[in-house]
Amino acid sequence: VSISADITSSLHLEVRVKKGASKHEIEKLKDLIASSVTSIDDLYNWRSFGLTHPDLKDVIDQAMIGCSNTPDGQRMLMESKNIPVSNVHVYNVREGDALATSVETGDSESAVASHHWQLPCKEFDDIWENLIFDDNIKNDLLSFVYALLKLSDRGTNSNIIAVNRMVLLHGPPGTGKTSLCKALAQRLTVRLSNRYKRSIFIEVNSHSLFSKWFAESGKLIMKLFEQIEECASDPHQLVFVLIDEVESLTIGRTSSYKGNDPSDALRSVNAVLTQMDKIRRLKNVLVLTTSNITEALDEAFVDRADVNRYVGHPSEYAIYGIWLTVIKELQRVNIIDQSVVLSPVSSFPRFNENSQKLLVLASQCRGISGRTIRKLPVLAYSRLSLDHLTIEQFLHHLEAVIHEKISPKL
Ligand code: ADP
Repeated sequence: VSISADITSSLHLEVRVKKGASKHEIEKLKDLIASSVTSIDDLYNWRSFGLTHPDLKDVIDQAMIGCSNTPDGQRMLMESKNIPVSNVHVYNVREGDALATSVETGDSESAVASHHWQLPCKEFDDIWENLIFDDNIKNDLLSFVYALLKLSDRGTNSNIIAVNRMVLLHGPPGTGKTSLCKALAQRLTVRLSNRYKRSIFIEVNSHSLFSKWFAESGKLIMKLFEQIEECASDPHQLVFVLIDEVESLTIGRTSSYKGNDPSDALRSVNAVLTQMDKIRRLKNVLVLTTSNITEALDEAFVDRADVNRYVGHPSEYAIYGIWLTVIKELQRVNIIDQSVVLSPVSSFPRFNENSQKLLVLASQCRGISGRTIRKLPVLAYSRLSLDHLTIEQFLHHLEAVIHEKISPKL
């Protein structure tokens, strides 16, 4: 088996339908879509692009090639553009806000216990492409979780192949963990759309479960998980459950939480763990959890995760990559001059002058979170009262903001 055959099977093309166009009709054009991609010169792994074919350009919003055997953002070679038609996934996105779902807590009060999104949705769609990491975490997670769901779907014996369908991402705040969970759910939904007709993303509000109605929280937890179970009872529905900052659950087990009776805390945490075990047994459920700390996490909890991955601060190359996504967007809306093109990270060290300068600035920002990194260019722009700037002006102001905010001693 040649290497290129190997790449071809893991090569997928995701095609987003324009609002108002018929997904059903476009699905009939998969052959044309796959062949129109082979002639496009500049394609990068997991980066979206437009299709210019006259029969496609008015009905397709964007396309994206994704290959889990190729680094994120790397330029695709010609032979790796022969995409099998079965790997072409046509999807449309839902617009609109999440649905807040509350649970009655007795005495005619209710708490917002979770938010629901029907996937694929517009809000989650661009997150994947714009998340930049140093390691291969995006590809690793996607292929691993895809395999988990496939194994579960085949009905493997869980005594022989232990699959918990649970992912734990941990690391400092603002490093993209929550965003990665949302983006991953979206990509899996698109890729598994033949198998699952529907997909739902449920974000559990762990704080509300533990703080306000503490004495009632056992009941609240039961009801919340009953709702989740109900969603999962539909075998054609894929269910993602995100529990953010999961440490707020597990801290409760060892110490009293916010001054409440410790035995209450213990009961609630045990209730969550029991309920999580229950929903994890359902093969169409994937539990995604994030934590800003690792040391304090309950061992029983860490043991349950199939994937336990650290997400750290971006290196200068990842910072550069994040800024590139921001600059591209500012160029798209014509705030930064579009004539200058910055080099993609993958072409380092063959960088043009402006790209070199951006990389130097990135190296001065090591050790800070992706969240802060993403804000700096906006801060730089806000300093100017200009509607339109050259790339040089932009870099100059970015430098000033960095020296002021991040490394004032430089
Ligand atoms: P966490 O869950 O780790 O606290 P979030 O997912 O809430 O972090 O990320 C906060 C913001 O920072 C998001 O808007 C995200 O786009 C941005 N961000 C963080 N890390 C990265 C990264 N590696 N690449 C791109 N954007 C990032």
